[in-house]
Amino acid sequence: MKPITELLSSGVVIGDGGYLIELERRGYVDSGSGREKVGTGRGSGQFTPEIAIENPEALRELHREFLQAGSHVLQALTFFGTREKLNRAGYGSDTEKINGAAVKVAREVAGARALVAGSVSRTQLTEREGLGSLDKSRDHIAEQIRLLKDAGVDFLILETFFHLAEMQVALKCASDAGLPAVATMSFRPLISKCSDDHTPAECARVMADLGAIAVGANCEQDPKRMLPLLREMRSAVSVPLAAQPAAFHTTNECHSFTRLPAFPDDLETIQVSRQEFVDFGRTALAEGIRYAGGCCGCNAAYIRSLARGVAAKA
Ligand SMILES: [Zn+2]
Repeated sequence: MKPITELLSSGVVIGDGGYLIELERRGYVDSGSGREKVGTGRGSGQFTPEIAIENPEALRELHREFLQAGSHVLQALTFFGTREKLNRAGYGSDTEKINGAAVKVAREVAGARALVAGSVSRTQLTEREGLGSLDKSRDHIAEQIRLLKDAGVDFLILETFFHLAEMQVALKCASDAGLPAVATMSFRPLISKCSDDHTPAECARVMADLGAIAVGANCEQDPKRMLPLLREMRSAVSVPLAAQPAAFHTTNECHSFTRLPAFPDDLETIQVSRQEFVDFGRTALAEGIRYAGGCCGCNAAYIRSLARGVAAKA
């Protein structure tokens, strides 16, 4: 496979879908909802990636499905894999093992047919303790990036950051490690501002200035709801855009599915049709989106639809 920077300059790179929600549906990932109200910031907030060491076969199968559907990149399931988050879920002492195993499984499936990206997300410290915790975040993110580099990822996807300040920390860690990084923010409860009050255009500029090879958004909204914020970003930067939307409907009052009552146990009631991802793929190139994939709610059927849309072009 060509390096990610070359792929981005030669067409639309097709990413993969969302792992944790799909694997929760299959019974391998704990949403935490049986013990706590998920999303309050008080509990473990589960959705952690210990499947990589507990049920690697199930993870391997989902990677195979995405590859078969047309993904050019497989993300190692290292989302929420910092020691901070794993500690809260009772897996802190397995941090090295989980990150290493997740990359190994993704690499075995990818072979020479896809690149392997390390997924790095927010620590959740900023939501819980405020921006004063950024030094702690830096240590955790730097540690995870070192583990991912040692495990041999091709590049990083920094995703689902709510605060631009924490994304800046992550981009600096990526740059210190010498790894190229795609950077995508998540916007909630509305697409107009991130959690520390920056517009999508400001986020895009800052991420591009810190060296991100593509900037954009992931999760929380379906493609149609996300498009206006991506257009704002496109007008602000010249680097390629990356978009990995969720496959869930949101409302005019709340643009984030994780803030709707259906999260996490009734998501089937707000699932969007895979047709939305055909349309998303069809418009990707015209909208400047050079990295297009899916996030929560996107199984292989959605990625196949996306690939079909990209192939159909306009
Ligand atoms: Zn997601």
